[in-house]
Amino acid sequence: MLDYRLSDETEALRTTVREFAREVIAPQIGEFYERDEFPVHIVRQMGELGLFGLPLPEEYGGGGGTYFDLCVVLEELARVDSSMAITVEAGVSLGAMPIYRFGTEEQKQQWLPRLCTGEVLGAFGLTEAGGGSDAGSTRTTARLEDGSWVINGSKAFITNSGTELTGLVTVTAVTGTRPDGGKEISAILVPSGTPGFTVGQRYSKVGWNASDTRELSFDDCRVPEENLVGERGRGYAQFLSILDEGRIAISALSVGLAQGCVDESVKYAREREAFGQPIGRNQAIQFMIADMEVRAATARLAYYRAAEKMLRGEPFQREASIAKLYSSEVAMDNARYATQVHGGYGFMNEFPVGRFYRDAKILEIGEGTSEVQRMLIARDLGVG
Ligand SMILES: Cc1cc2nc3c(=O)[nH]c(=O)nc-3n(C[C@H](O)[C@H](O)[C@H](O)COP(=O)(O)OP(=O)(O)OC[C@H]3O[C@@H](n4cnc5c(N)ncnc54)[C@H](O)[C@@H]3O)c2cc1C
Repeated sequence: MLDYRLSDETEALRTTVREFAREVIAPQIGEFYERDEFPVHIVRQMGELGLFGLPLPEEYGGGGGTYFDLCVVLEELARVDSSMAITVEAGVSLGAMPIYRFGTEEQKQQWLPRLCTGEVLGAFGLTEAGGGSDAGSTRTTARLEDGSWVINGSKAFITNSGTELTGLVTVTAVTGTRPDGGKEISAILVPSGTPGFTVGQRYSKVGWNASDTRELSFDDCRVPEENLVGERGRGYAQFLSILDEGRIAISALSVGLAQGCVDESVKYAREREAFGQPIGRNQAIQFMIADMEVRAATARLAYYRAAEKMLRGEPFQREASIAKLYSSEVAMDNARYATQVHGGYGFMNEFPVGRFYRDAKILEIGEGTSEVQRMLIARDLGVG
Protein backbone atom coordinates (compact mmCIF):
# COMPACT_ATOMS: atom_id res chain seq x y z
CA MET A 1 0.00 0.00 0.00
CA LEU A 2 1.28 3.42 -0.87
CA ASP A 3 -0.57 6.08 1.10
CA TYR A 4 1.18 9.27 2.12
CA ARG A 5 -1.97 11.05 3.32
CA LEU A 6 -1.63 12.36 6.85
CA SER A 7 -3.89 10.98 9.57
CA ASP A 8 -6.58 13.34 10.91
CA GLU A 9 -4.53 13.82 14.12
CA THR A 10 -1.34 14.68 12.25
CA GLU A 11 -3.23 17.02 9.91
CA ALA A 12 -4.76 18.81 12.93
CA LEU A 13 -1.31 19.09 14.51
CA ARG A 14 0.07 20.55 11.28
CA THR A 15 -2.71 23.15 11.19
CA THR A 16 -2.12 24.16 14.82
CA VAL A 17 1.62 24.55 14.33
CA ARG A 18 1.18 26.36 11.02
CA GLU A 19 -1.05 28.94 12.72
CA PHE A 20 1.31 29.25 15.67
CA ALA A 21 4.29 29.78 13.35
CA ARG A 22 2.47 32.41 11.28
CA GLU A 23 0.76 34.24 14.10
CA VAL A 24 3.26 34.03 16.96
CA ILE A 25 6.73 33.36 15.51
CA ALA A 26 6.64 35.24 12.19
CA PRO A 27 5.85 38.74 13.51
CA GLN A 28 8.66 38.84 16.09
CA ILE A 29 11.43 36.39 15.16
CA GLY A 30 13.29 38.83 12.89
CA GLU A 31 14.10 41.13 15.83
CA PHE A 32 15.49 38.30 17.94
CA TYR A 33 17.47 37.05 14.95
CA GLU A 34 19.04 40.44 14.37
CA ARG A 35 19.91 40.78 18.06
CA ASP A 36 21.35 37.23 18.19
CA GLU A 37 18.93 36.52 21.01
CA PHE A 38 17.23 33.29 22.07
CA PRO A 39 13.48 34.02 22.52
CA VAL A 40 12.76 32.08 25.71
CA HIS A 41 9.08 33.07 25.76
CA ILE A 42 8.46 31.58 22.29
CA VAL A 43 10.23 28.38 23.32
CA ARG A 44 8.02 28.18 26.43
CA GLN A 45 4.94 28.61 24.24
CA MET A 46 6.14 25.78 21.98
CA GLY A 47 6.51 23.71 25.15
CA GLU A 48 2.93 24.53 26.16
CA LEU A 49 1.79 23.33 22.73
CA GLY A 50 3.43 19.99 23.54
CA LEU A 51 6.00 20.15 20.72
CA PHE A 52 8.94 18.95 22.84
CA GLY A 53 7.22 15.72 23.89
CA LEU A 54 5.47 14.80 20.65
CA PRO A 55 7.05 11.43 19.83
CA LEU A 56 7.49 10.33 23.45
CA PRO A 57 5.05 8.10 25.35
CA GLU A 58 2.39 9.62 27.56
CA GLU A 59 3.74 7.76 30.62
CA TYR A 60 6.76 10.12 30.51
CA GLY A 61 4.66 13.21 29.86
CA GLY A 62 4.94 12.99 26.07
CA GLY A 63 2.26 13.33 23.42
CA GLY A 64 2.24 9.67 22.42
CA GLY A 65 2.72 10.58 18.74
CA THR A 66 5.29 9.35 16.24
CA TYR A 67 8.64 10.59 15.03
CA PHE A 68 6.86 11.48 11.79
CA ASP A 69 4.58 13.86 13.73
CA LEU A 70 7.71 15.59 14.97
CA CYS A 71 8.95 15.89 11.36
CA VAL A 72 5.67 17.42 10.18
CA VAL A 73 5.90 19.96 13.00
CA LEU A 74 9.51 20.82 12.13
CA GLU A 75 8.52 21.36 8.51
CA GLU A 76 5.80 23.83 9.53
CA LEU A 77 8.08 25.71 11.93
CA ALA A 78 10.93 25.96 9.41
CA ARG A 79 8.53 27.23 6.76
CA VAL A 80 8.52 30.40 8.86
CA ASP A 81 11.72 30.21 10.90
CA SER A 82 14.58 27.72 11.25
CA SER A 83 15.97 28.94 14.59
CA MET A 84 12.84 27.81 16.44
CA ALA A 85 12.64 24.64 14.34
CA ILE A 86 16.20 23.60 15.23
CA THR A 87 15.54 24.43 18.90
CA VAL A 88 12.70 21.88 18.88
CA GLU A 89 14.65 19.41 16.72
CA ALA A 90 17.68 19.46 19.00
CA GLY A 91 15.54 19.47 22.15
CA VAL A 92 13.61 16.36 21.14
CA SER A 93 15.78 14.40 18.76
CA LEU A 94 19.14 15.11 20.40
CA GLY A 95 18.20 16.14 23.95
CA ALA A 96 15.41 13.74 25.00
CA MET A 97 15.80 10.80 22.60
CA PRO A 98 19.18 9.50 23.91
CA ILE A 99 17.62 9.26 27.40
CA TYR A 100 14.42 7.71 26.09
CA ARG A 101 16.18 5.19 23.84
CA PHE A 102 19.12 4.25 26.07
CA GLY A 103 18.61 5.67 29.58
CA THR A 104 17.72 3.77 32.74
CA GLU A 105 14.16 3.88 34.05
CA GLU A 106 15.37 6.23 36.78
CA GLN A 107 16.95 8.62 34.25
CA LYS A 108 13.74 8.59 32.20
CA GLN A 109 11.58 9.33 35.24
CA GLN A 110 13.92 12.07 36.38
CA TRP A 111 14.33 13.92 33.06
CA LEU A 112 11.72 13.06 30.44
CA PRO A 113 8.63 14.70 32.00
CA ARG A 114 10.39 18.09 32.14
CA LEU A 115 12.02 17.64 28.73
CA CYS A 116 8.61 16.82 27.24
CA THR A 117 7.02 20.04 28.49
CA GLY A 118 9.96 22.16 27.34
CA GLU A 119 10.42 23.31 30.94
CA VAL A 120 13.94 21.91 30.55
CA LEU A 121 15.97 21.70 27.33
CA GLY A 122 18.47 18.94 26.67
CA ALA A 123 21.59 19.08 24.49
CA PHE A 124 23.75 16.51 22.72
CA GLY A 125 27.53 16.87 22.88
CA LEU A 126 29.30 14.78 20.27
CA THR A 127 31.31 17.24 18.17
CA GLU A 128 34.71 18.49 19.33
CA ALA A 129 36.80 21.28 17.89
CA GLY A 130 39.20 18.69 16.46
CA GLY A 131 36.56 16.81 14.45
CA GLY A 132 32.85 16.59 13.70
CA SER A 133 32.63 14.25 10.72
CA ASP A 134 35.21 11.98 12.34
CA ALA A 135 33.09 11.82 15.49
CA GLY A 136 34.92 8.74 16.78
CA SER A 137 38.08 10.82 17.22
CA THR A 138 36.71 11.98 20.61
CA ARG A 139 39.38 13.38 22.94
CA THR A 140 37.17 14.17 25.92
CA THR A 141 37.82 11.58 28.61
CA ALA A 142 35.90 10.25 31.60
CA ARG A 143 37.53 8.08 34.27
CA LEU A 144 35.74 6.27 37.07
CA GLU A 145 36.92 7.39 40.49
CA ASP A 146 35.16 6.64 43.81
CA GLY A 147 31.78 6.07 42.18
CA SER A 148 31.97 9.17 39.95
CA TRP A 149 32.87 9.86 36.33
CA VAL A 150 35.56 12.55 36.20
CA ILE A 151 35.22 14.29 32.83
CA ASN A 152 37.91 16.37 31.11
CA GLY A 153 37.83 17.91 27.64
CA SER A 154 35.62 20.10 25.50
CA LYS A 155 32.80 20.03 22.97
CA ALA A 156 32.14 22.44 20.08
CA PHE A 157 28.99 23.82 18.41
CA ILE A 158 26.47 22.38 20.88
CA THR A 159 22.86 23.45 20.24
CA ASN A 160 20.58 24.38 23.19
CA SER A 161 23.48 24.02 25.63
CA GLY A 162 23.43 27.39 27.39
CA THR A 163 19.89 28.75 27.48
CA GLU A 164 18.15 29.58 30.74
CA LEU A 165 16.02 26.48 30.12
CA THR A 166 18.94 24.11 29.55
CA GLY A 167 19.07 21.34 32.14
CA LEU A 168 21.52 18.78 30.79
CA VAL A 169 23.90 17.73 28.08
CA THR A 170 24.66 14.13 27.18
CA VAL A 171 28.30 13.92 26.06
CA THR A 172 30.49 11.26 24.53
CA ALA A 173 33.78 10.59 26.28
CA VAL A 174 36.59 8.06 26.05
CA THR A 175 36.19 5.76 29.06
CA GLY A 176 38.89 3.22 28.24
CA THR A 177 40.42 1.04 25.54
CA ARG A 178 38.55 -1.70 23.69
CA PRO A 179 40.03 -5.21 23.39
CA ASP A 180 40.98 -4.38 19.74
CA GLY A 181 42.97 -1.35 20.93
CA GLY A 182 40.40 1.23 19.77
CA LYS A 183 38.79 3.90 21.97
CA GLU A 184 35.99 2.81 24.26
CA ILE A 185 33.45 5.65 23.97
CA SER A 186 30.55 6.02 26.39
CA ALA A 187 27.72 8.53 26.81
CA ILE A 188 27.40 10.41 30.09
CA LEU A 189 24.66 12.77 31.27
CA VAL A 190 25.93 16.03 32.77
CA PRO A 191 23.35 18.29 34.49
CA SER A 192 23.80 22.04 33.95
CA GLY A 193 25.57 23.74 36.82
CA THR A 194 27.74 20.74 37.73
CA PRO A 195 31.05 22.07 39.12
CA GLY A 196 33.81 21.82 36.51
CA PHE A 197 31.32 22.11 33.61
CA THR A 198 31.65 25.50 31.89
CA VAL A 199 29.33 26.75 29.17
CA GLY A 200 30.99 29.24 26.80
CA GLN A 201 29.59 32.36 25.16
CA ARG A 202 27.19 31.94 22.25
CA TYR A 203 28.98 31.70 18.92
CA SER A 204 28.47 34.55 16.50
CA LYS A 205 26.90 32.63 13.59
CA VAL A 206 26.03 33.19 9.92
CA GLY A 207 22.50 31.78 10.44
CA TRP A 208 20.18 30.17 13.03
CA ASN A 209 20.87 33.36 14.98
CA ALA A 210 17.92 33.05 17.35
CA SER A 211 19.04 29.55 18.37
CA ASP A 212 21.63 28.77 21.04
CA THR A 213 25.01 27.24 20.07
CA ARG A 214 27.99 27.10 22.44
CA GLU A 215 31.33 25.57 23.28
CA LEU A 216 31.45 23.43 26.44
CA SER A 217 34.43 22.58 28.61
CA PHE A 218 34.92 20.03 31.34
CA ASP A 219 37.64 20.37 33.93
CA ASP A 220 37.61 17.52 36.46
CA CYS A 221 33.83 17.63 36.23
CA ARG A 222 32.35 14.90 38.46
CA VAL A 223 28.99 13.24 37.96
CA PRO A 224 27.68 10.05 39.63
CA GLU A 225 28.55 6.71 38.00
CA GLU A 226 24.79 6.21 37.43
CA ASN A 227 24.83 9.07 34.90
CA LEU A 228 26.16 6.67 32.27
CA VAL A 229 23.56 6.63 29.47
CA GLY A 230 23.21 3.15 27.97
CA GLU A 231 25.95 0.58 28.05
CA ARG A 232 29.55 1.47 28.77
CA GLY A 233 31.49 1.44 25.48
CA ARG A 234 28.31 1.79 23.35
CA GLY A 235 28.18 5.60 23.45
CA TYR A 236 29.47 6.15 19.93
CA ALA A 237 27.16 3.55 18.39
CA GLN A 238 24.21 5.00 20.33
CA PHE A 239 24.92 8.51 19.13
CA LEU A 240 25.20 7.29 15.52
CA SER A 241 21.76 5.71 15.75
CA ILE A 242 20.38 8.95 17.22
CA LEU A 243 21.88 10.79 14.24
CA ASP A 244 20.21 8.36 11.79
CA GLU A 245 16.80 9.43 13.13
CA GLY A 246 17.90 13.05 13.38
CA ARG A 247 18.63 13.11 9.65
CA ILE A 248 14.95 12.57 8.87
CA ALA A 249 14.13 15.47 11.19
CA ILE A 250 16.74 17.73 9.54
CA SER A 251 15.34 16.71 6.15
CA ALA A 252 11.84 17.80 7.27
CA LEU A 253 13.28 21.08 8.54
CA SER A 254 15.01 21.58 5.16
CA VAL A 255 11.76 20.92 3.29
CA GLY A 256 10.07 23.52 5.49
CA LEU A 257 12.68 26.13 4.60
CA ALA A 258 12.40 25.19 0.90
CA GLN A 259 8.59 25.53 1.05
CA GLY A 260 8.87 28.84 2.90
CA CYS A 261 10.95 30.08 -0.05
CA VAL A 262 8.09 29.14 -2.40
CA ASP A 263 5.49 30.86 -0.16
CA GLU A 264 7.45 34.10 0.01
CA SER A 265 8.31 34.07 -3.69
CA VAL A 266 4.71 33.53 -4.82
CA LYS A 267 3.58 36.41 -2.61
CA TYR A 268 6.31 38.73 -3.82
CA ALA A 269 5.96 37.81 -7.51
CA ARG A 270 2.27 38.77 -7.39
CA GLU A 271 2.87 42.10 -5.64
CA ARG A 272 6.11 43.47 -7.06
CA GLU A 273 5.74 45.35 -10.31
CA ALA A 274 8.41 46.02 -12.91
CA PHE A 275 7.92 47.35 -16.45
CA GLY A 276 4.27 48.04 -15.62
CA GLN A 277 3.26 44.52 -14.56
CA PRO A 278 3.76 42.07 -11.68
CA ILE A 279 7.13 40.35 -12.03
CA GLY A 280 5.26 37.01 -11.82
CA ARG A 281 4.01 37.61 -15.38
CA ASN A 282 7.52 36.88 -16.62
CA GLN A 283 8.22 33.27 -17.46
CA ALA A 284 11.73 33.60 -16.02
CA ILE A 285 10.18 34.26 -12.58
CA GLN A 286 7.41 31.65 -13.03
CA PHE A 287 9.96 28.98 -13.92
CA MET A 288 12.16 29.77 -10.92
CA ILE A 289 9.14 29.42 -8.63
CA ALA A 290 7.85 26.27 -10.37
CA ASP A 291 11.28 24.65 -10.03
CA MET A 292 11.37 25.62 -6.34
CA GLU A 293 8.00 23.90 -5.80
CA VAL A 294 9.18 20.76 -7.66
CA ARG A 295 12.25 20.55 -5.46
CA ALA A 296 10.32 21.06 -2.21
CA ALA A 297 7.64 18.52 -3.19
CA THR A 298 10.14 15.82 -4.17
CA ALA A 299 12.28 16.41 -1.07
CA ARG A 300 9.15 15.97 1.06
CA LEU A 301 8.58 12.55 -0.49
CA ALA A 302 12.16 11.61 0.40
CA TYR A 303 11.65 12.31 4.10
CA TYR A 304 8.17 10.71 4.12
CA ARG A 305 9.76 7.56 2.66
CA ALA A 306 12.54 7.49 5.29
CA ALA A 307 10.03 8.09 8.11
CA GLU A 308 7.73 5.40 6.75
CA LYS A 309 10.54 2.83 6.84
CA MET A 310 11.53 3.91 10.33
CA LEU A 311 7.95 3.61 11.62
CA ARG A 312 7.63 0.16 10.05
CA GLY A 313 10.72 -0.92 11.97
CA GLU A 314 12.66 -1.53 8.74
CA PRO A 315 16.27 -0.41 8.16
CA PHE A 316 16.05 3.24 7.12
CA GLN A 317 19.63 4.56 7.24
CA ARG A 318 20.08 4.84 3.47
CA GLU A 319 16.71 6.56 3.02
CA ALA A 320 17.48 8.94 5.91
CA SER A 321 20.80 9.91 4.32
CA ILE A 322 19.18 10.33 0.89
CA ALA A 323 16.45 12.54 2.41
CA LYS A 324 18.92 14.65 4.41
CA LEU A 325 21.36 15.07 1.53
CA TYR A 326 18.74 15.88 -1.08
CA SER A 327 16.51 18.17 0.97
CA SER A 328 19.37 20.20 2.42
CA GLU A 329 20.64 20.87 -1.10
CA VAL A 330 17.09 21.72 -2.18
CA ALA A 331 16.81 24.19 0.72
CA MET A 332 20.05 25.83 -0.37
CA ASP A 333 18.92 26.05 -4.02
CA ASN A 334 15.47 27.40 -3.12
CA ALA A 335 16.95 30.02 -0.79
CA ARG A 336 19.20 31.20 -3.62
CA TYR A 337 16.32 31.45 -6.12
CA ALA A 338 13.89 33.02 -3.62
CA THR A 339 16.45 35.74 -2.94
CA GLN A 340 16.79 36.25 -6.70
CA VAL A 341 13.01 36.61 -7.10
CA HIS A 342 13.10 39.33 -4.41
CA GLY A 343 15.88 41.29 -6.12
CA GLY A 344 17.49 43.90 -3.84
CA TYR A 345 14.84 43.38 -1.16
CA GLY A 346 15.98 39.77 -0.92
CA PHE A 347 19.23 41.12 0.48
CA MET A 348 17.43 43.17 3.14
CA ASN A 349 16.63 41.85 6.59
CA GLU A 350 13.05 43.08 6.47
CA PHE A 351 12.09 40.16 4.21
CA PRO A 352 12.20 36.56 5.54
CA VAL A 353 14.08 35.23 2.49
CA GLY A 354 17.30 36.89 3.70
CA ARG A 355 17.00 34.82 6.86
CA PHE A 356 16.20 31.71 4.79
CA TYR A 357 19.33 32.32 2.72
CA ARG A 358 21.52 32.53 5.83
CA ASP A 359 19.83 29.56 7.51
CA ALA A 360 20.03 27.18 4.55
CA LYS A 361 23.78 26.56 4.47
CA ILE A 362 24.08 24.83 7.86
CA LEU A 363 21.59 22.19 6.66
CA GLU A 364 24.32 20.82 4.36
CA ILE A 365 26.70 20.64 7.34
CA GLY A 366 24.95 19.75 10.63
CA GLU A 367 24.10 16.15 11.62
CA GLY A 368 26.48 14.84 8.97
CA THR A 369 27.75 16.91 6.05
CA SER A 370 26.66 16.23 2.46
CA GLU A 371 29.97 14.43 1.91
CA VAL A 372 29.33 12.20 4.93
CA GLN A 373 25.82 11.39 3.59
CA ARG A 374 27.31 10.45 0.21
CA MET A 375 29.88 8.25 1.98
CA LEU A 376 27.10 6.50 3.94
CA ILE A 377 24.94 5.96 0.85
CA ALA A 378 27.90 4.61 -1.15
CA ARG A 379 28.89 2.33 1.73
CA ASP A 380 25.32 1.02 1.98
CA LEU A 381 25.46 0.28 -1.77
CA GLY A 382 28.58 -1.78 -1.15
CA VAL A 383 31.04 0.72 -2.62
CA GLY A 384 34.15 1.61 -0.64
C1 LIG B 1 25.09 25.75 14.23
C2 LIG B 1 25.62 24.39 14.53
C3 LIG B 1 24.97 23.57 15.45
C4 LIG B 1 25.50 22.32 15.78
N1 LIG B 1 24.91 21.56 16.77
C5 LIG B 1 25.54 20.44 17.22
C6 LIG B 1 25.06 19.72 18.36
O1 LIG B 1 24.04 20.09 18.97
N2 LIG B 1 25.76 18.64 18.80
C7 LIG B 1 26.88 18.21 18.17
O2 LIG B 1 27.47 17.23 18.63
N3 LIG B 1 27.36 18.85 17.07
C8 LIG B 1 26.72 19.94 16.58
N4 LIG B 1 27.20 20.63 15.48
C9 LIG B 1 28.40 20.10 14.82
C10 LIG B 1 28.16 19.56 13.41
O3 LIG B 1 27.49 18.33 13.48
C11 LIG B 1 29.53 19.49 12.72
O4 LIG B 1 29.94 20.82 12.45
C12 LIG B 1 29.50 18.69 11.44
O5 LIG B 1 29.29 17.32 11.73
C13 LIG B 1 30.81 18.82 10.63
O6 LIG B 1 31.92 18.64 11.44
P1 LIG B 1 33.13 19.71 11.40
O7 LIG B 1 32.51 21.03 11.59
O8 LIG B 1 34.17 19.29 12.36
O9 LIG B 1 33.69 19.62 9.93
P2 LIG B 1 34.84 18.58 9.41
O10 LIG B 1 34.50 17.20 9.87
O11 LIG B 1 36.16 19.13 9.78
O12 LIG B 1 34.64 18.68 7.84
C14 LIG B 1 35.18 19.75 7.05
C15 LIG B 1 34.92 19.38 5.59
O13 LIG B 1 35.61 18.17 5.25
C16 LIG B 1 34.70 17.22 4.72
N5 LIG B 1 35.13 15.88 5.09
C17 LIG B 1 35.53 15.43 6.31
N6 LIG B 1 35.86 14.14 6.25
C18 LIG B 1 35.68 13.76 4.96
C19 LIG B 1 35.86 12.53 4.25
N7 LIG B 1 36.28 11.41 4.86
N8 LIG B 1 35.59 12.50 2.93
C20 LIG B 1 35.14 13.61 2.28
N9 LIG B 1 34.98 14.81 2.89
C21 LIG B 1 35.24 14.86 4.21
C22 LIG B 1 33.36 17.58 5.35
O14 LIG B 1 32.27 17.04 4.61
C23 LIG B 1 33.42 19.11 5.30
O15 LIG B 1 33.12 19.54 4.00
C24 LIG B 1 26.66 21.85 15.11
C25 LIG B 1 27.29 22.66 14.16
C26 LIG B 1 26.79 23.92 13.87
C27 LIG B 1 27.54 24.78 12.89
